[in-house]
Amino acid sequence: MTASATDAPAPDSPSAASGSNFIRTIIDADLQAGRHAGRRWAGQPDVAQAHRAGTIDPARIRTRFPPEPNGYLHIGHAKSICLNFGLALDYGGRCHMRFDDTNPEKEEQEYVDSILDAVGWLGFSWNSGDEDNLYYASDYFEHFYLMAEWLVTAGHAYVDSQDADAIRANRGTLTEPGRNSPFRERSPAENLALLREMRAGRHPEGSHVVRAKIDMASPNMNLRDPVLYRIRFAEHHRSGDTWCLYPMYDYAHPIEDALENITHSICTLEFEDHRPLYDWLLERLAEGGFFDPPLPQQIEFARLNPTYTVTSKRKLRELVQAGLVDGWDDPRLPTLVGLRRRGYTPEAIRTFCERSGVSKANSWIDIGALEGALRDDLDDKAARAVAVLDPLKLVITNWPAGHVEPCEAPVHPKQPERGKRQFPISGELWIEREDFAEHPPKGFFRLFPGNRVRLRYGYVIECTGFEKDADGQVTAVQARYFPDSKSGTPGADAYKVKGNLHWVSAPHALDAEVRLYDRLYLEAQPEAEGRDHKEALNPDSRRVIQARLEPTLASAGPEDRFQFERHGYFVADRFDSKPGAPVFNRTVTLRDSWGARK
Ligand code: ATP
Ligand code: MG
Repeated sequence: MTASATDAPAPDSPSAASGSNFIRTIIDADLQAGRHAGRRWAGQPDVAQAHRAGTIDPARIRTRFPPEPNGYLHIGHAKSICLNFGLALDYGGRCHMRFDDTNPEKEEQEYVDSILDAVGWLGFSWNSGDEDNLYYASDYFEHFYLMAEWLVTAGHAYVDSQDADAIRANRGTLTEPGRNSPFRERSPAENLALLREMRAGRHPEGSHVVRAKIDMASPNMNLRDPVLYRIRFAEHHRSGDTWCLYPMYDYAHPIEDALENITHSICTLEFEDHRPLYDWLLERLAEGGFFDPPLPQQIEFARLNPTYTVTSKRKLRELVQAGLVDGWDDPRLPTLVGLRRRGYTPEAIRTFCERSGVSKANSWIDIGALEGALRDDLDDKAARAVAVLDPLKLVITNWPAGHVEPCEAPVHPKQPERGKRQFPISGELWIEREDFAEHPPKGFFRLFPGNRVRLRYGYVIECTGFEKDADGQVTAVQARYFPDSKSGTPGADAYKVKGNLHWVSAPHALDAEVRLYDRLYLEAQPEAEGRDHKEALNPDSRRVIQARLEPTLASAGPEDRFQFERHGYFVADRFDSKPGAPVFNRTVTLRDSWGARK
């Protein structure tokens, strides 16, 4: 893997967006050759005999998104979702939502529910026309079994009774061929009898496995009589204890694809060396009459690897289980539930996935590209509001006692049709602590003794003094205001000032919890040089503060998004916000200042 993001096409290059990529080139050629035109479809997944009795498949292509329900989806899965569902939409095809739930031990209904929710949230649907393409590989257990019976009968597979250690030891290495199992020449009749006993639960775990009979000397280790089936006395989240035989991924996946009439089976690069096995198995099963050509075609592409991120369910689970984050939907995680809670929009995630392109070579993509896609989307969508995150009291000494008056600001500076918002000004305000300096550094245009600034949407003021506590900490600032300087009134422009401060009226401000999230890792490649990713965690990835907000924000509902002027984009937390009392999460800052801070 290289440390560059240069493999991904630039956002404006023709191969980004809906432009071309090598997968589209393959699909275009297949369609032009009419390769899939004669396929028939039974209306549901099934073997060839049933499909032959169906109609011509209304889908020009079929793709699938096949997660294992053993964790929450992350940004890497979003890439696969966008690709598979996107291709189906573009080509008049269908994309199947398929749970690859053939491993009984690690799978749970909770994950199934969250995955369905995430795919829908991203904006995709497995319902198309009159088809509802939601499938579970566990519904194919009988098919897997019957095909295994045929494979042993036809001499393409055998029951091996070596234990796991012996199987491993006899597999050979990249430079040495493997050794044939002493059970390799069992007769088809003996294999079939054993297989039936295995199904009946008459043999303990580990006592036998079913292996394909291919070639123990193959230079491709995956073809050295791979294990297809094993015994597990485990409770499955859908099929219960009906089965004690469970298929391996390499056996199950091609069959799942073929049963579902998948034309293009898109997976990540690490499966490239498995493709010969995928093809071998489907060719044998086609000979057995289970499937008709054209058989599904496996196509590999590079995983999405954003910097400052880990994209592996196992590693994300480590963080959750060690309590290093607050659950799967912690806003710092790259899970889709985490990104959603952080304030990411489905549109931004889709744009990022498109812009990141489809490549044949693994590389890192700058997480800044995801944040950039988000800023592009939120700049248009988010209403503006004022927030003082680190409040310092400002007293206007010549303000008429008890006087309060409204100020007006646009909801969105580029969208006048969204109207105006109003908030009060009074003689006591909160300003940002960093907007005042007792001794201004060179080029500081904000508030300091004797200097004039404009209170955004309000008046011009001049700093007349300040107070400090015993520790030398500034506790309040005094200023006088110019009554004829109010923004939007005639003559206000006569005041020429360089600084423009945001503020909220102290007696009217909304006090709210604001969570300032930052990147979860300090290192672009959290696992570089063999490091445990947990050692690269950013200790300051979350800071919780009590901020003073524009009073209009009291009516913000869950997932309402705002640009807090000068600070960044924020979202009202989906779960912790209460009516009248929103809690805000910082989604992203206005600019990418990460490099500058380090
Ligand atoms: P993990 O290692 O996080 O468990 P996985 O690949 O084992 O990931 P699956 O549930 O099997 O997870 O994945 C479902 C689909 O999503 C697969 O087709 C897989 O190739 C794809 N996918 C997973 N991670 C990425 C990624 N980082 N980039 C692109 N596609 C991905
Ligand atoms: Mg996996």
